[in-house]
Amino acid sequence: MKRIETDVIIIGGGATGTGIARDCVLRGIQVVLVEKDDLASGTTGRNHGLLHSGARYAVQDVESASECINENRILKKIARHCIEDTGGLFVTLPEDDPEYHHALIQGCKKADINCREISVTDALRIEPNLNPTIIHALTVPDGTIDPFRLAAANILDAVERGGTLFTHTKVTHFLRNQNTIIGVCCHDRLKKETFEIYAKVVVNASGVWGQNICKQAGIELKMFPSKGSMVIIDYRINNVVVNRCRKPADGDIIVPGDTVSLIGTTSKKISYEKIDEAVVDDDEVEVLLKDGEKLIPNVSKTRMLRAYCGIRPLVAVSGKMDGRDISRGIVRVDHEERDGVKGFISIAGGKLMTYRLMAEMTTDLVCAKLNINKACTTHQIPLPGSEQKSSEHKQIKRFSGIPKSIVGSTHFRHGERAHRILQKDRKSYGLICECEMVTAGEVDYAINHLFVNDIIDLRRRTRVGMGPCQGALCAYRAAGHMAQHEATHEEDAAKMIIDFFEERWKGIKPIFWGDALREMEFTYWIYQGLFGLGNLISGSRGSGKGVETIDEIRNF
Ligand SMILES: Cc1cc2nc3c(=O)[nH]c(=O)nc-3n(C[C@H](O)[C@H](O)[C@H](O)COP(=O)(O)OP(=O)(O)OC[C@H]3O[C@@H](n4cnc5c(N)ncnc54)[C@H](O)[C@@H]3O)c2cc1C
Repeated sequence: MKRIETDVIIIGGGATGTGIARDCVLRGIQVVLVEKDDLASGTTGRNHGLLHSGARYAVQDVESASECINENRILKKIARHCIEDTGGLFVTLPEDDPEYHHALIQGCKKADINCREISVTDALRIEPNLNPTIIHALTVPDGTIDPFRLAAANILDAVERGGTLFTHTKVTHFLRNQNTIIGVCCHDRLKKETFEIYAKVVVNASGVWGQNICKQAGIELKMFPSKGSMVIIDYRINNVVVNRCRKPADGDIIVPGDTVSLIGTTSKKISYEKIDEAVVDDDEVEVLLKDGEKLIPNVSKTRMLRAYCGIRPLVAVSGKMDGRDISRGIVRVDHEERDGVKGFISIAGGKLMTYRLMAEMTTDLVCAKLNINKACTTHQIPLPGSEQKSSEHKQIKRFSGIPKSIVGSTHFRHGERAHRILQKDRKSYGLICECEMVTAGEVDYAINHLFVNDIIDLRRRTRVGMGPCQGALCAYRAAGHMAQHEATHEEDAAKMIIDFFEERWKGIKPIFWGDALREMEFTYWIYQGLFGLGNLISGSRGSGKGVETIDEIRNF
């Protein structure tokens, strides 16, 4: 069996795990990160991507609010190409308690969040689609953050500085020497290979799966899985984050992101056994549309693209599951101290936007265990792509001859790394995905540098298939391009398409009416009617049931 030795093993390739990998490498520590699926395939890729100002927590939890605003300021500097500094509004509807507006202003003051009261007329000038009946409005420094880019940029930096990444590789069990964890045994699903990694410290950054990981180490870490669902609408109907000014509840945020807007979110307790099967329920879609419409009335007239859900990795600190003991803050556990198991740390809770702080706290503890005295620098060193911002004018001049729209979208997604993608050779800027302006050059870059194995991974790195057609016109082009450039075998390329549509289908099923239904019928004609894809067996990811399910629903 293959055997690897390193200083630290990190389990989980979400924002937290990739952030820890980067922090460790920057402090001279050797790391290997193991992710069972793809980067950001867990909760990191299943949230609103709201770069909180902290205002959402300012009334109930000033500590979380302060953490948010501090990280908000740092991330705007080090992760520029993952962030849109949109700004945010908190608006009060006639039916809302007007006192909350004043409590929010006070809370923001305590947490040092720049919150300004503006007139309703000014709010409507900033966001013309807002409900004109609002009675109060506040501006806050909210923004949006792309979780896929964030995780990819963190691990890219770690790998370029000597770290190692295994995706599609599951940690199956721990290697122990009495009460010390000395490594993990892993299984690589794509290569169908099992191997061992030995390390001085193992970090459990596996989010909501942390309970399972701890169980494998014989330790109890109770999670309180709380499902949140979101609906994506097919236009960017707002340009700033719109929050409802009331105690956090269902359907009270609308977040713009790339070419779309998201309505979020719900909160439903689910049993731990169901975390891998969670789906969006009909009542959740209903409440999100109903409440979303109260903030921006256009919501009901706009085509829905898909709905999805994520599970909050909340930890029941005392081990009880009665709700009061649930921490929404960051939970770092030194298992040597708490459980007498040496060489093992868990990090959970927190938020996407506190990932860097969580990574810093974890790496500090790793350093203490390894007797390394090196301070964190992740708050100062920009991520690859965020080094400096060149002006639009400079970009267009530099890449003259390449269509402006392609230069813009490549820069938007890859920041300063765009110069590695944009070539004047016409073939390289041929479009693979016209909804999201993804070129052949960008696909090649993602395959060669961003740890892409199939079209689902490619979607997370480039937005291929995330636009209005949901992959109908680009999935076969992307698969064809990958096969042509030997990133996959021809036979596997067809199976990859099935897996891709099974994945897309999960998000379309909950909103399967109107334009979404029409679009899916069109996709069905192409892939089943023309290509007969349903006659093939599914690829390595899928269960093979997805295509049948579409058939069943169609016949029904
Ligand atoms: C509905 C919802 C909305 C949210 N909105 C926001 C928001 O707007 N802003 C914000 O800041 N935060 C938000 N959050 C919170 C945020 O998404 C999470 O706190 C954060 O993404 C957690 O990241 P993570 O890396 O800790 O966990 P994850 O992203 O879940 O990563 C854990 C990884 O571990 C891997 N793994 C598990 N078991 C194994 C194994 N055996 N071997 C190898 N790998 C394994 C998983 O595949 C997964 O990729 C939201 C959360 C939810 C649910």
